[in-house]
Parts: sequence; structure tokens; C-alpha cells
Amino acid sequence: MHMAEFWKETLSQIQQTTSESEFVLFFSNLNVTFDENNNLTVETPSAFFRDKLKSSFGSKIEEILKDLTGHQVNIEFTVKTTPEKGTSKSNEKPSEKVVEKAPVKVLSNEADKVRHHINLNPDFTFDNFVVGVNNDFAYNCAIAISNNPGTNYNPLLLYGGVGLGKTHLMQAIGNAIHQNNPKANIVYKPSETFVVEFLEALKTNKTSAFKNKYRNADILLLDDIHDFKGKRETQEELFNTFNALYQSKKQMVFTCDRPPQELKDFADRLLTRLTQGINADLQFPTWETRMVILKKKLENRNVTVSDEILELISRKITTNIRDLEQGLKNIIAYTELTNRELTVEVTQSLLKNTFSGPLQQGIPMDLVMKVVAEFYKMSVSDLKGKKRTQAITQPRQIAMYVIREMTEFSTTEVGIEFGGRDHTTVMHAVQKIIDKLKTEPNFDIVIQNIMRTVRERANAS
Ligand code: ADP
Ligand code: MG
Repeated sequence: MHMAEFWKETLSQIQQTTSESEFVLFFSNLNVTFDENNNLTVETPSAFFRDKLKSSFGSKIEEILKDLTGHQVNIEFTVKTTPEKGTSKSNEKPSEKVVEKAPVKVLSNEADKVRHHINLNPDFTFDNFVVGVNNDFAYNCAIAISNNPGTNYNPLLLYGGVGLGKTHLMQAIGNAIHQNNPKANIVYKPSETFVVEFLEALKTNKTSAFKNKYRNADILLLDDIHDFKGKRETQEELFNTFNALYQSKKQMVFTCDRPPQELKDFADRLLTRLTQGINADLQFPTWETRMVILKKKLENRNVTVSDEILELISRKITTNIRDLEQGLKNIIAYTELTNRELTVEVTQSLLKNTFSGPLQQGIPMDLVMKVVAEFYKMSVSDLKGKKRTQAITQPRQIAMYVIREMTEFSTTEVGIEFGGRDHTTVMHAVQKIIDKLKTEPNFDIVIQNIMRTVRERANAS
């Protein structure tokens, strides 16, 4: 049998044990090739997609192929290369779309656009949503749903931390469906409101009106379902609503601030329902995507902010997109109110005022060192010491950078702590990391991870 046949057989075996929606999502968009030695290359649309595919199906694919061919087949998962994106040097504009966007079906004529939905934020559209490796899976799911609500991916559960775009993406689905089909009954609710309304209905004996309202929805968008935590009675009602809507093939979308398996105080059968469709997470964007987001947010503003300033914001704000936006707003407000030139120094102090909460200030240097040392599986004394092998210098530079970013210590103080080094050495180290951050998207993820761990540990102590 030829490899192509083996692959076909592999797919059909996987299909048997995978839900239809998941199968379509993962396997309809691959480009599979094999060389003369029967090595398999599976090309995926994005790095995020590749990782998901690999972790969810990698070993299964290997196993089946081994069974079929009788020997180990080498499989390489790759990412489709888009035509020259250009490197993101500081003075170059980052490529407009960090990830190729899937097409959205929309009415052709601008004039045909219907009035916006009364309960949806008109700014929360797909157009205004910047796609990067941090969110492209979720984005593609959202697009698929908007194009064909209630068919394949039901429900969609979007999860991720505060300010990472869950509400935006959820409402973008609502807005797109509303544009395509203004008659569709789209119900958007924060879960908190759902809970309050239900308890109120119980008190006033109006539960049937409540039930009707939700069960007549064509599209139900329920935001922040972690707010159902411990509310067993309301959970029961949501469970029934879910079943009714699911049976009549009505699309549901939920959001939640953590991975669903971490939801506590939830009825098991409800949780099973909520996660039975497709689950997609939103993560913090890379440096490059953050730049694109900032530029997007500037688009309809009458101000220009230099790339240098945008880079600074993008580098300094590492919490979430809401903060990123807030940082930009503060800076715009400053220029509009004072009419003064926006310098790097001014930006730095504006950002400091907004984002150095009490938690950031109390971070000791040795906590950062410990986190970095653990991350690179080395000792703190090596980190501070004199050795200058590549394996040690880079973590050392990272530790210096993170300390300078997250604490108030001066370069002199940092130098002293790192075995009596000169402050210029520290400055040099920090600059090295800044340069690397701009050119290597994956490196940014590493730094984010380290900073997040430091924040968490500092908060915990
Ligand atoms: P969440 O619901 O996850 O807490 P939101 O959806 O409210 O976060 O997003 C917070 C802010 O960040 C909003 O103003 C939103 O427009 C913006 N935002 C989030 N993700 C993106 C993105 N990918 N592109 C552009 N703006 C974004
Ligand atoms: Mg939200």
C-alpha cells in the first residue's frame, strides 16, 4: 500500500473515535506529504494549531501508522509558511496580520449593513480583533460558528484570563450573525445577570417567563460562566436551558476565566454539557501581536504615536490586552490634554503610575533569580557567579532584565547582587534581551512565563 492510502486509513480510524466537529476542525485543513523514505510531513495552518494537533492526536497518529505499516513512521508537524513576512526590526511595521485570518461571510455592500444589535458592543467585531498565535484557534472556531451557527461546534467554550478578548470574540460572533441574519434572536448575557434574573423570577413566581426568554434564543451567548460557581439552583436551570437549545440546534457560546477542568462547585453533568463541543483558549499575545493590537487601537484616533513609544508600551505591559489598551489610552489622554511632546521618559513614568501596583513593588531580587534558575534548571549561585558559558549567560541576562522590568532596583544595585558587576554590564544585558524580544516571538513567551511565575509567587507570599 502506498503512504497516501495509509494516511487515508489513519484518518478514517481517527474519525471513528473523534467527534465530527473536532475531526473537521483538526483534519480538514492539513497538507500532508511524504518523501521517498516514507517520512510524513503534516503541514498545519499555524504554530498554535500545530501544537494542539500534536498534543491531541500526535501519538495516536503514530500508533495507527505503526500498526498499518509495521514500522515506525517519522512524522513531522510543520507550520505553513506564508510568503516572506519580513523581520520585525524595531523601525519596521509589524506584518499587518500576524496570522492569516479566515474569511468571514458578510453582506457585500456597506450600505446594506443593518443597525447594530442593542445588547452588543459594536466595536467588538472580527474586523477589530487582531489574530496571533495566542488566539487563532479560538478565532477560527468563532468564525466557523458565525458562518454556520448551531451545526458543528456546539457549544463553543472560550476560556482564558481576564482581559484577553473572551467577551470581544463572543460578541463578534453575535455581531456577525446579526449582520447576516438580523432576525436571529441573539441573547447575550453576563452569567451574573442570568443568575440574578433567575433568582428574581423564582421570588416573583415568574420562572416561565424566564424560561421562555432563554429557550427562545437562536443564539445564546453566556459570558463568564465561572460566576455560576456554587449556585446549584441556577446551574440546574442552565442545564435545562442547555438541553432545550441543544436539541433544537441553537448555537451556544460560553466564556470562562479558567480551563473548564478547574471549575469548582459545578454540577458534573452541567460541566460535561458545557465542554462537549469545542473548547478554545485565549492567551496573552506575543510582542509582535501586541504591536499590531496597539496600532489597530490607534486607527480611528487622531493622534500619532511613534513606534518607539508603542514598543515601550508593548514591552512594559505584560498583564493583559485590557491593560495594554488602558496604557495606550492614558498616553493619548496625556498628549491631548497637555499638548506636550510624548517622550520615552514621559511614557515610562505614565506607565509606571498606571501599572506598578503594590504587588509589583514588593518583589525581591532573589525571588526573580530563583524563578529564572528553576526555569533553566540551574543553581542561583551559577546565575550570580562568574561563569560565562552560553547556557549561563542568557538566563543571567534574563534575570537582570526581569528584575529591571518588575522592580525598582537600579542597575548599580542589580550589578552588586550579581557578583559585583558593573552597572553598564546590567544595561548591556537588558538591551540584549530587548533586542531578542523583538526578533523572536517564542522568546517573548518564555519571558512572559517567567514574569507570570514571579508575579504569582510574589502574590502568594
Ligand atoms: P475578557 O472578556 O477576556 O476579559 P475583553 O474581551 O473584554 O476581555 O477584552 C478586553 C479589551 O481588550 C477589549 O477592549 C478588547 O477589544 C481588547 N482585545 C482583546 N483581545 C483583542 C484582540 N485580539 N484584538 C484587539 N483587541 C483585543
Ligand atoms: Mg469578559
